[in-house]
Amino acid sequence: MSSDGLSPCPFCGSSDVRIVEFLDGEGDRVFAVGCGGCGCNGTPHIPLMDDARPAATASWNRRAPVLSPGLVPVPVVATQEMYAAWMCSEGGWAHRYKALLAARPGAAND
Ligand SMILES: [Zn+2]
Repeated sequence: MSSDGLSPCPFCGSSDVRIVEFLDGEGDRVFAVGCGGCGCNGTPHIPLMDDARPAATASWNRRAPVLSPGLVPVPVVATQEMYAAWMCSEGGWAHRYKALLAARPGAAND
């Protein structure tokens, strides 16, 4: 949970999430939670009479986790360390995949 009450990204696990403001396709000012790790956005909320940021926060924190038990989040684009681990490992696909996962950001904290 971030200092502003946002849960980590359900797609990549990043805590680099924040409320962003932008214009939607209709030119309306909207608020949503955006992830700095993978670039995804939560549901956009249009401020009508109230501040839309609490609604954007609430909908982001209600999102169901994408990961099933036993799976781990990985960046959408492999880091240089993950790529190097894949290229330097030997063996079959499963062995290389385990090396890639072991080199992902935050793997040392598992
Ligand atoms: Zn993300």
